[in-house]
Amino acid sequence: MTEPLKVLILAAEVVPFAKTGHLAEVVGSLPKALKKLGVDVRVAMPRYGRVDPERFGLQHVTGPFDVPMDQHQEPVNIWEATIDDDVPVYFVDNARYLGREGIYGYPDDGERFVLFCRGAVEMLKRLDWVPDVIHCHDWHTAIIPQWLKTLYRDDPFFAHTATVYTIHNLAYQGIFGTRILEIAGIDEYHFQVPQIRDLENVVDLMAQGILFADAVNTVSPTYAQEILTPEYGEKLDLLLRDRKDRLFGILNGIDTETLNPMTDPHIAAPFNKEHLDARVANKLDLQRAARLELDPAIPLMGAISRLTDQKGFDLIAQILDAVVNLDVQFVVLGTGEQRYHELFSDMARRHPQRLSVFLTFNAELAQKIYAGTDMFLMPSRFEPCGLGQMIAMHYGSVPIVRHTGGLADTVQDFDPHADTGTGFVFTRYNAYDLFAAIVRATETFKYPAMWRQLQLRDMEKDHSWAASARQYVDLYHKAQSFKAAG
Ligand code: ADP
Repeated sequence: MTEPLKVLILAAEVVPFAKTGHLAEVVGSLPKALKKLGVDVRVAMPRYGRVDPERFGLQHVTGPFDVPMDQHQEPVNIWEATIDDDVPVYFVDNARYLGREGIYGYPDDGERFVLFCRGAVEMLKRLDWVPDVIHCHDWHTAIIPQWLKTLYRDDPFFAHTATVYTIHNLAYQGIFGTRILEIAGIDEYHFQVPQIRDLENVVDLMAQGILFADAVNTVSPTYAQEILTPEYGEKLDLLLRDRKDRLFGILNGIDTETLNPMTDPHIAAPFNKEHLDARVANKLDLQRAARLELDPAIPLMGAISRLTDQKGFDLIAQILDAVVNLDVQFVVLGTGEQRYHELFSDMARRHPQRLSVFLTFNAELAQKIYAGTDMFLMPSRFEPCGLGQMIAMHYGSVPIVRHTGGLADTVQDFDPHADTGTGFVFTRYNAYDLFAAIVRATETFKYPAMWRQLQLRDMEKDHSWAASARQYVDLYHKAQSFKAAG
């Protein structure tokens, strides 16, 4: 029998232990799907103060042991829990840097994540577990590929360990002064400085990951192409173009075990493709919760999002007056920039029969919106993958999206003549084009049979992790070949 592929996944946040965004969802779900494919996958993350040892049953594994950090040593302990009793998760514990309550936002975040990474790498030796691949996510773990090519280059323990680096959002790069390399113990190595537009004398950890990893990917095929251009490349397009032979795109999946309209505990009525009529109870329930007129015949549109320009809220702001004059109800759930909070509060006060706004983070209400709306709006300026549109489709809410990144890879424009497509897609980043897509959607809604077919096509799409996990296994093998080729 051949040995299973051994993979260590590292990230700053992992569901269910700590979450601020989709990174945690991905790193919480992907290992479960890899495990089903026979991969010996393990995860490592920092042990933040907020990770409750009792709730998660943390067990002490090893330590304390000393980890080199700048000119001194830091003591580290390793704890272990599991995801679904199946995937081991190692927690790197150091009271001084990692034991604080929060995940990010400290002035020494650079040092904190360098220590986490060094602790995780040194932990492998203590466990005597040699991964075939170390899979790093976002800038917090991007120093590791560089270490394997410098500090640990001649270490026989890692002689056959390849690295994969996944970019979740190029907009967050981890930019620090060059001192971070001293802290990481690699200042004496002559290292290449990646080409970054307009920036000098800084270390951009995202760029280091892209430069040194054996293989790099981002979370959709279209975004992998877009980031090669100055428009989407966030100053790293030159470097990414240099590395394009090693750059791949793999769509995220959604966790269809927990996101299941038949078993979702947060929605009023279970439904599926075979019992789609039952869905109307969720629409009425949402109209009630949102204090809108209870009427299944009025098209109900939803948005669940960070309220930022990235998500297209500048376009929505431009057409909101026109939208409230359409025969459509609109529910918005989100938090973000103050100006959008003000705009939506003000508009909701003036048009309570059309617009209902929840300026909070509320996972339960989010499920009610996915299950109760007819349409789901996501007009992003850029979108590395996007989970919202996939969850919406899975729950039978038809997406209205811009043709960019993962939205372009998951939603096909509706063609009434051929009766094909899964949503309403516009291309130019322009408020008129967004408005036209919304009008097309509300007009199509007037034809129930056609609308039903659209919903069924959405619900039939397979967005589970299985297919993406297979592509990650291929990527791990590619990384091993790149490493072997030198
Ligand atoms: P992002 O770029 O913010 O990660 P995604 O669409 O990839 O965007 O993922 C956002 C996830 O967070 C989705 O699952 C969405 O339902 C959820 N979400 C966003 N804002 C809220 C909110 N205010 N309340 C509840 N869930 C939210």
